[in-house]
Amino acid sequence: MEPLIVLDKVNKHFGSLHVLKDIELTVGRGEVVVVIGPSGSGKSTLCRAINRLEPVQSGTITVDGRPLPAEGRALARLRADVGMVFQSFNLFAHRTVLDNVMLAPLKVRRRPRADAERRGRELLDRVGLLDQADKLPAQLSGGQQQRVAIARALAMEPKAMLFDEPTSALDPEMINEVLEVMQQLAEEGMTMVVVTHEMGFARSAADRVVFMADGRIVEDRVPEDFFTDPRTDRARDFLSKIL
Ligand code: ADP
Ligand code: MG
Repeated sequence: MEPLIVLDKVNKHFGSLHVLKDIELTVGRGEVVVVIGPSGSGKSTLCRAINRLEPVQSGTITVDGRPLPAEGRALARLRADVGMVFQSFNLFAHRTVLDNVMLAPLKVRRRPRADAERRGRELLDRVGLLDQADKLPAQLSGGQQQRVAIARALAMEPKAMLFDEPTSALDPEMINEVLEVMQQLAEEGMTMVVVTHEMGFARSAADRVVFMADGRIVEDRVPEDFFTDPRTDRARDFLSKIL
């Protein structure tokens, strides 16, 4: 499989805290990698490092064969290659749902307004929210807002999508509507790195499960193998707590 995201011996420190330790990870084009692990194990930092929201002290990170530039326009372009969806939806509160989805293509990609709007409506349709286009985010449920956040990330036509616990802030009845959109994306061939505690999603959508503990990748397995026969005590212990 052609590699799209490659991390080679990546180390990240916050002061004296060693948060990512010699991370080696390759995500192939079209591959879905689910990242799991205890709180504080470095999952969010890993996502943020991939998108250059956090600098790393050593190692290399490449996306589509290009090393991450430190700053400037090259960085902005590269960041746009990787869409990110967070636990908190971070929508613009005073803009309509459609505006939220159109804004980055208009301002960053400098798309003509009519194109951005047509594409925005297509994406809202894809996440099942075309009828909510003119509402403000606060008028939507949490699950709907997260689906808008996904549409907004897709509007930049990213090569890959990172999801950092996208359903953790949602009421239980809204989790599935978001996971279904993600599942559909996966089936359409989107390259995805997904941090989640939703093991059902990991089983059904992931090509690989990466288990992190203490800043290291401890297991990197196909889901079936990981869930039926975890190799490490750390993973067994973690699974016994969440399953
Ligand atoms: P996870 O997402 O797996 O819960 P994080 O990547 O958020 O883990 O955090 C990994 C470790 O790094 C934790 O010990 C956390 O306290 C620490 N950490 C995360 N962000 C910062 C920061 N901005 N400054 C200092 N320490 C941080
Ligand atoms: Mg986290």
